Amino acid sequence: MAPRFLLALAICKLIVTVGLNVEPAELLQLGVGGGLLSMDRPDVESASLDFGMMSRVEPLAVYHPSSADDVAQLVRAAYCSGRGFAVSARGHGHSINGQAQAAGGVVIKMSSAGPAAAEGWPAPRVAAEERYVDVWGGELWIDVLRSTLERGLAPKSWTDYLYLSVGGTLSNGGISGQAFNHGPQISNVYELDVVTGKGDIVTCSEEKNSQLFHAVLGGLGQFGIITRARIALEPAPQRVRWIRVLYSNFSSFTRDQEYLTSLHGEPASKKFDYVEGFVIVDEGLINNWRSSFFSPRNPVKISSLGTDGSVLYCLEVTKNYDESNADTVDQEVEDLLKDLDFIQTSVFTTDIPYVDFLDRVHKAESKLRSKNLWDVPHPWLNLFVPRSRIADFDRGVFKGILGNKTSGPILIYPMNKNKWDQRSSAVTPDEDVFYLVALLRSATVSGGGGGGGDASRRLEHLVDQNRRILKFCRDEAIDVKQYLPHHATREEWADHFGDERWARFHRNKMEFDPKRILSTGQRIFKPDFGSYPNTALSL
Ligand code: FAD
Repeated sequence: MAPRFLLALAICKLIVTVGLNVEPAELLQLGVGGGLLSMDRPDVESASLDFGMMSRVEPLAVYHPSSADDVAQLVRAAYCSGRGFAVSARGHGHSINGQAQAAGGVVIKMSSAGPAAAEGWPAPRVAAEERYVDVWGGELWIDVLRSTLERGLAPKSWTDYLYLSVGGTLSNGGISGQAFNHGPQISNVYELDVVTGKGDIVTCSEEKNSQLFHAVLGGLGQFGIITRARIALEPAPQRVRWIRVLYSNFSSFTRDQEYLTSLHGEPASKKFDYVEGFVIVDEGLINNWRSSFFSPRNPVKISSLGTDGSVLYCLEVTKNYDESNADTVDQEVEDLLKDLDFIQTSVFTTDIPYVDFLDRVHKAESKLRSKNLWDVPHPWLNLFVPRSRIADFDRGVFKGILGNKTSGPILIYPMNKNKWDQRSSAVTPDEDVFYLVALLRSATVSGGGGGGGDASRRLEHLVDQNRRILKFCRDEAIDVKQYLPHHATREEWADHFGDERWARFHRNKMEFDPKRILSTGQRIFKPDFGSYPNTALSL
C-alpha cells in the first residue's frame, strides 16, 4: 500500500483513539516523506515488546524512515496535530521496561538486524585523520565497529554487548569496563543531528546548540531523536590479554578495583584497558553466560579454591596490545597484578582477538538462543551505588536478600564521576567514585533463584526481590541511582534527578518537546494527549 494511504488510515485511527482535534486532510498535507508507515501485525507486534518481555503496549503504527528528513516529517506531523500523539524512536528494542514503546502512537524503527546502509540509511563515514566516525542513529555498535576496523580504528568506550543501537545507548550512557578510563559512551561523542519534539532537525555539539547536545546525551529520548552521531575513535588494538582473579574478601576486592580504576590518568602501559567484576553467589555463576571465558570442558569449581563456600568476587581486567607492545604486555600485566590481593591460586588468563573480546556476549547469546533461553522475561535491575556504601550493599544484598541463588550474572565495577560530563542528562550518585551493580537475571523455568517452578512465578519472585533491594537501599539511606531508570511516579522521577537536575530536565522538555510526545514509554512526563496505559505484567 502507498505510504500516504497508510498514513491516512493511521491518522484516522489516531483521531478516534486519542481524540485529536484536527482533520485527517490537514495531517495528510504535512506528509511523512519517503518512509513507510505500517500497521501490519508483525510490525506492531514487534514494537509492542522489548528485551525485558515484561510489558506489552501496542503502538498504532510503525514508521520505517529512510532518512532524517522522514523522521522530522513524522515528528512534525505529530507535533502539529492538535494535542499531538506519541512518537518513540526504537533502536534495537533492548530496553527492559517498555522505554521505546509508544502507546497508541507511532514507533519509529531506527535499526534493523544488519548494517543501516542495507536499509538505505546513511552508511558510516570514517574520518581517519580526524579520528571520528559519523553514523546513523539507529546503527548497531557491532556495525560501527566493523566499519571503523576497515580503517584500523575503533570507538574508545563500549557496552558489553554490541547489538544495541547508537541512539539507544547514547540516550542512557553506554558503559562497560572502559568507562573508568574513557568515560561512558556519552563522553565520547563530538556532534549529533537531532530531530526535536517540534520536528526541527538540529545539529548540536559542545560549541553549537550545546543545550540540546547535553540534554540529549543520557536524555532517555525525551528531547529529540538522534539521527546522526559523530563518535570519537582511536587506533584499534589487535589482541586482548583477558584475566580473571577471584576474591573471597569483599573489601580486598573493592580496594583492588578502586586502585585499578584510580590509574586512569597513567600512561597506557601502566593501567588496564578494562576493569569489571562480578559476584559469584552460587556455583553455577562462575561460568556465567555473560562472558564465555572458562572452558566448558574445564569448568572452575568454587569448592576447589579452598574458600568456605560463601560469596566470591571475580575481578576481570584486560590489556590491549598489538605488534608495538607484544613484547612487553606480559611484564605490564605482571606489574599491575603484583600489588593485588586476590586468591593466588585463582588466576585465569586467556588471549583473544580484540573483536572477539568486544563481541563476547554475542557468543553467549547464540548459546542461550539455541536453548530457548534468550527470549524470556528479564527483570534486570541496574544500580549506581556510591562507593561509601558499597560494603553495606554487599552485606544487605549479595549476602542477604539474594540468598544463595541468583538466576543470572551480577556485574559490579567502579567508575570515576569526573569522566561523566555533568552537563549531560545522565544521573549518577553524588560521590567521586560509584559502582555499577547490574543484576541481570532471567525468569526461566530452569533458572534457579527460588520462587517455584514456572516462569511466571519466578518472574514475580525476581521482581519482588528487586523491590526488596530498592527498599533496603531506601531504608538504609543508600543513595543509589538507577541506571536505565524505571520509575512509576513523577515524585520518583524528581527524586531520581534531584531538585536542580530535575528543574533543568523539565526546562529542557518544555523547550525541545513542549507537547511531550517523545519517548512516552519512559513514563516521565504525562503527554498532552492523555494518560499512560496500564501495563500489566504480561508473562
Ligand atoms: P531501545 O530499547 O530501542 O530504546 C531505548 C530508549 O532510547 C527508548 O526510550 C527509545 O525511545 C530511545 N531511543 C532509541 N533510539 C533513539 C534515538 N535514535 N534517538 C533518541 N532516542 C532513542 N547498557 C550499557 O550501558 N552497558 C552494557 O554493557 C549493556 N549491556 C546490555 C546487554 C544486553 C543483552 C541488553 C539487553 C542491554 C544492555 N544494555 C547495556 C542496556 C542498553 O544499553 C539499553 O537498554 C539501550 O537503551 C538499548 O539500546 P536499544 O537500541 O535497544 O534501545
